[in-house]
Formats: sequence, C-alpha cells, structure tokens
Amino acid sequence: MAGNIKVITGEMFSGKSKELSRLIERALIADLTVDVFYPVFSSRDSSRDIERRVAELRGSLTIMGVPDGSARALITLINPGADVVAIDEAQFFTHDLVDVVKKLRHDGKRVLIAGLDLDYQENPFGCMGALMCIADDVMKVHAVCTACKKSDAFISYRLSAESGQVVIGESNYTALCVECYDHVMMGKQERTTDYQTA
Ligand SMILES: [Zn+2]
Repeated sequence: MAGNIKVITGEMFSGKSKELSRLIERALIADLTVDVFYPVFSSRDSSRDIERRVAELRGSLTIMGVPDGSARALITLINPGADVVAIDEAQFFTHDLVDVVKKLRHDGKRVLIAGLDLDYQENPFGCMGALMCIADDVMKVHAVCTACKKSDAFISYRLSAESGQVVIGESNYTALCVECYDHVMMGKQERTTDYQTA
C-alpha cells in the first residue's frame, strides 16, 4: 500500500499535539502499529506534550525521543514493522527530515507530522515549510487570540525578553491574532523611539 504524509501545523496552543494524538488513537483502533518521535536536546527540556497525550492509549505504540532532533538518528529508531510514523515538534528536527519523510512515504508508511509553522518573529520555522510542500494533506489549526479573545491567532508571541529562535517553555508565549500582534509590536516601537529621543 502506498504511504502518505499529513502535516498539522499552527501556532502554540492551537491544538496540534491534540490533533496528532487523535489521529494516533484512530490508527491504534484500526490495529496499526505506530511509532511516535519527538526531539530531545541535552541543553534544554522540551515540553513533551505528546508523551502525556498518548500515555493513556492502548495498542501497538512506541514513543521515542530523538537526540538533537537528528533525522538520521530517527531513521535508525524506526521499527520496520511500523505502519504509522508520527513526528511531533517537527520544526526542531534537522532539514534532512524532508528526505526521510519522502522515503517513508515510498516505503508505504503513513507519516503524521505536527509542528509550528512560524517562529516568534513570523519566519517559517525549520523544515516545516518544505514538509508542507511535500505533504499530501496539510491542516492548519488555530488558537483563539488571548488579547481580543475573538480572532484566530496566527503567531506564538514571546512574552519574555530573550532573543534567539528557540526559547522553550509554554509560559514564555501567548497566541495573538495579526491585529493584536501589530498593536503590541507598534507599542514596543513607540517605547523604543521615546527612549531614543529622551
Ligand atoms: Zn486579537
């Protein structure tokens, strides 16, 4: 049977891991064998939301952390009998994940991928853009904006002052819509200008 690739993407708090675990549960009910992967880094602790979500599920399921988000390491960990390969936090994996996933589809695997589409500065995150291009199916999910509580959020806005693309921890972020994000960023700019002219 031919394989396929499905990508679930969106900002933080949008329910990506929840949707991924729902699809994993469906596969287990269908008696499929599922391998679940997430990246682990010695320098930081990731949230491992997916571990908590699949802990209750029954069936042929293996969940594994992949050191340094290395796609090459992921290949060596895949159980050859796995029908479904699920990858959470895919934005943290190395770019060769794209080739790995393509090969898995040719090998007849069903690949489920969840990850952030944008970083906190509105840039495409890691290999997520390329994964969306090669996917058979892409699903974008959205949180509700935490500022206006009306519009769909589009970005994980960083609350802490740290810079760098990767700062782990849900408490460091909130989900904002375009309008509220612009409003906050404009406020920041004004403060900077005031400071410079003072
Ligand atoms: Zn808003």
